[in-house]
Amino acid sequence: MDFDLTDEQAQLRDAVRALGRRYGHGYFVAKAKAGEHTTELWSEAGRLGYLGVNIPTGYGGGGGGITELAIVCEELAAAGCPLLLLVVSPAIAGTVIARHGTEEQRSRFLPGLADGSTKVAFAITEPEAGSNFHQLGTVARRDGDDWLISGRKCYISGVDEADHVLVVARVPADPDGTVSPGAGGATASGSPDDGGATAGGSPDDGGATAGGSPDDGGATAGGKGGKGATAGGKGATAGGSPRLRPALFVVPTDAPGLTRSRLEMEIVSPENQFLLYLDEVRVPADALVGGSVDAGLPALFAGLNPERITVAAMGVGTGRYALERASEYTATRRVWRGRSIGSHQGVAHPLAHAAVQVELARLMIYKAATRYDAGRDLEAGIAGNLAKYAAGEAAALAVDTAVQALGGAGMTTEYGVATLLGAVRAGRIAPVSREMILNFVAQHVLGQEKSY
Ligand SMILES: Cc1cc2nc3c(=O)[nH]c(=O)nc-3n(C[C@H](O)[C@H](O)[C@H](O)COP(=O)(O)OP(=O)(O)OC[C@H]3O[C@@H](n4cnc5c(N)ncnc54)[C@H](O)[C@@H]3O)c2cc1C
Repeated sequence: MDFDLTDEQAQLRDAVRALGRRYGHGYFVAKAKAGEHTTELWSEAGRLGYLGVNIPTGYGGGGGGITELAIVCEELAAAGCPLLLLVVSPAIAGTVIARHGTEEQRSRFLPGLADGSTKVAFAITEPEAGSNFHQLGTVARRDGDDWLISGRKCYISGVDEADHVLVVARVPADPDGTVSPGAGGATASGSPDDGGATAGGSPDDGGATAGGSPDDGGATAGGKGGKGATAGGKGATAGGSPRLRPALFVVPTDAPGLTRSRLEMEIVSPENQFLLYLDEVRVPADALVGGSVDAGLPALFAGLNPERITVAAMGVGTGRYALERASEYTATRRVWRGRSIGSHQGVAHPLAHAAVQVELARLMIYKAATRYDAGRDLEAGIAGNLAKYAAGEAAALAVDTAVQALGGAGMTTEYGVATLLGAVRAGRIAPVSREMILNFVAQHVLGQEKSY
């Protein structure tokens, strides 16, 4: 067991930390309040290779893994610059395209994702489906060689900055015909909605399904032809929900028929969320990730662990940032007989308690990332969910505790802590809510029945 970063990882951490501190939370907030983006920071991070640490070297990336990307996310957040687009663009889109894209898609998108010149948003959430991705209503139908995509998505981050968006759509059993939810192929036992781990093969290769955990029969990354695997077994449907046969499309954000409206969110962030409307958006055949509908489910699952791990890393980075601000303040602020307010246990203990929670979450993040980078997807799925839960709670606790410890200063923009309240609160909801993770743990770790 080794809890140390490698020398290269430690150098990356120090370099990203230095970059983040050069910009700092003041820059982040100023951009957010001006309705601008953190373009300078993003471009510099891209030029220095930090955005592409997880992209294969053959496509201009650093050839590292999600561990390295988690370090980048954590350190930028710890400097007061939690960049959500790191999660959607290099973590989700970068992984999905690197692992499941065609060679042409890899060559087209990965170099830009690696240097930051290309940003790809990720659109799965829908107003009617919410946490239940089996209810996705966005549909892709074939029209000659093209696809026509229609539907609605909500809370999609960064669409205004992105040149493409990775859209998750439902494909009918017969893509030329009508859609019948419940018909057709793939399903996930550990589904994306409850945080199910990762998928292996494709629905058609018998190995198919995504294992929430070994005990729900979902098990493994299947190669071709594994007859004995899980499709049709316990994993065939999820709690009676309509079966999801997902396909992922890389859609240009300026495609005719794709419109967006910005959601007003109570989060101080230079990154925005959008409602997306897709009205018969026509994309060519090569927009379909992997070039085949069968690539959809494993491609979708491929993005989930990187998403959870990097969003968790952003959370602990934010928690560290808040605790650092608070500790500096409480160690020097004196209002009773010359003693620092931090000498009072009523102030120090909550901060210490939050620090414990942040560090515990951090351990789970790097456990999950290490498992993921070792190709141990199922274990990474469980650890990634635990990490995401723990980091979401720890970040919210740390920021709230920091605000309290700073007193009135905690609510000022100048001290830069209350500006993070909305973001850490959102971290308990997105990308997968704490309740859905608890459902996942109850079912897949504790063996409880599913109630929904
Ligand atoms: C800041 C932000 C950025 C986002 N960015 C993106 C993005 O880039 N792309 C994208 O696709 N989506 C994005 N999302 C959407 C996010 O993933 C969803 O908000 C999240 O998955 C929850 O879905 P919902 O909001 O529809 O909640 P709902 O599904 O309506 O759930 C509402 C509440 O009910 C609880 N609940 C629901 N079902 C159960 C159950 N079975 N058991 C117990 N509790 C349950 C939930 O936990 C939640 O607390 C973003 C959201 C936010 C806030």
